[in-house]
Amino acid sequence: MANLTPFPELSYRQQELYIEDVSLSDLAQVYGTPLYVYSYSALSKAYREFSAAFASRDTMICYAVKANGNLSLLRELAILGAGFDIVSAGELKRVLNAGGDPQKVVFSGVGKSKEEIIFALKANIFCFNIESEAELYRIHECASELNMHANVSFRVNPDVDPKTHPYISTGLKNSKFGVPFDTAIDLYTKASQLDHILIKGIDCHIGSQITDLNPFIEALERILELIDELKRLGITISHLDLGGGLGITYKDETPISLTAYAEALLSRLHGFSGKLIFEPGRRIIGNSGLLLTKIEFLKHSPEHQFAIVDAAMNDLVRPSLYDAWHEIIEVKHHSNPASYQFDVVGPVCETGDILGSRRQLSAEPGDLLAILSTGAYGAAMSSNYNARSRASEVLVYKDQHYLISQRESFDDLIQRELTDFLTQPALSKS
Ligand SMILES: *Cc1c(COP(=O)(O)O)cnc(C)c1O
Repeated sequence: MANLTPFPELSYRQQELYIEDVSLSDLAQVYGTPLYVYSYSALSKAYREFSAAFASRDTMICYAVKANGNLSLLRELAILGAGFDIVSAGELKRVLNAGGDPQKVVFSGVGKSKEEIIFALKANIFCFNIESEAELYRIHECASELNMHANVSFRVNPDVDPKTHPYISTGLKNSKFGVPFDTAIDLYTKASQLDHILIKGIDCHIGSQITDLNPFIEALERILELIDELKRLGITISHLDLGGGLGITYKDETPISLTAYAEALLSRLHGFSGKLIFEPGRRIIGNSGLLLTKIEFLKHSPEHQFAIVDAAMNDLVRPSLYDAWHEIIEVKHHSNPASYQFDVVGPVCETGDILGSRRQLSAEPGDLLAILSTGAYGAAMSSNYNARSRASEVLVYKDQHYLISQRESFDDLIQRELTDFLTQPALSKS
C-alpha cells in the first residue's frame, strides 16, 4: 500500500482511502468527479505550525492567495489569524469578500495597474511590495490624487539561487521580479523624498518549492546588510518580509522543518526588532488537498499502458507545465499486486495532458484515483480548455464535508459570450 506518511489526514481503512474521517468513494458518490478535496485539519495545522514557529516575535503570516483563493478557505485562514499576500485587485476582492483584514494585506506583483493601486489604497491595505522604480512613481501619483499616503516596501532581489525549477526561481539577478540589489539604496532614497509615500518595509521572495534552508539564510543576510545601510542614511525599516517559497513533499523531498527555518532566521534577527512577515502559499495548502478522479478507460499501446481518467491538465496543469510529480494512489486498494505501469492521462487533446507517467497501479475502469498534493496551484490554475467545466471543491473536517465551489455548468461556460452580437445576423450573411 502507498506510504501516506508525508500526506497529512490520509489513511487506508479496510483498504479504502479516507481523508480525515470521510471516505473518498463516498465523496465521489455525492459530488461526482473530478473533485478537489481539502482537509481543514491539515490546513489549520499547517497554518498553526507556521505561526507557532514565530510566536516569540511580532509576526504576520500572509497566506499567498494565488496558491488557492477559494473564498471558504480564505475565510477559515482569516479566522485562524492569517493575513494575505495578493498579486491583483481580484485577489484583494476575494480577501475582502472572505472577511480578511485589509490591514494584514501585502500587495506583490510586477504589473500593478493604476486602477488596482487606487482600489488597494482605498481599501487601506497594510503595504505595497514595490517591484520597480516606475511602480514607485505610479503609486505616488495615485496616492497624491487621493490625497493619501501609501505604505511601501521594495521587493529586493538578493540574487541567490534557490535551486528549484527555473520557472519558479524568482530571486535571481535577471528575474523579472523585484528590484536589483544594487539599486535598492537609490530607490529607498528616492522614495524617502516623495510626499505621499511612507517607507515601511523591505521584502524578498526568492522562489517556490524550496527545500534547502541555505538560500533563505543567504537572502536574509543580504537584506540585513541593506537594512543597516538604510539606517545609516536615516531610513528606518519597520518590517521585514521574507516571502514564501517553502517546499513540501510531492514525492521524496524532505521539506525544511519550520522550527529549523525559524531558528535559522531568528538567530540572525537579534539586531532587527521590527515586525516579521512571511508569504507562504504552497506550504499551507499544498498537502491539504487532493484531486479525486475516475478511470474512464484503460488503453494499451505497444510501449505504454494508459489509464485515461476524467481529470486533465485543465484541472491540474503542474505536471504539463513544470514536469511536476504528483503522487497518484488507488482509492480502493486491490489486494492483488499492481498490475501495470500506467501513464495516467486526461481526455484533453494534447500529448502533454499527462498527470503522471509510469505509475505502478492496479487499476480497472471505474476505479477512483487520488492525485495528491494538489491543494496549491491546482484549482487556482485550472482552466476551461477543451470546454471542460472546472470541478467542484469540497472541504472536509472530521466526518463532515462541505461543498465550497460548484462544478461549472455549460451555461457558466458560455455566459460571457452571450453578447448582443449573437442576436444579430452573422457576418457571412451581411
Ligand atoms: C507565489 C508567491 C508566494 C507564495 O509562494 P509559495 O511557494 O506558494 O509559498 C509568495 N510571495 C510572492 C510574492 C509570490 O509571488
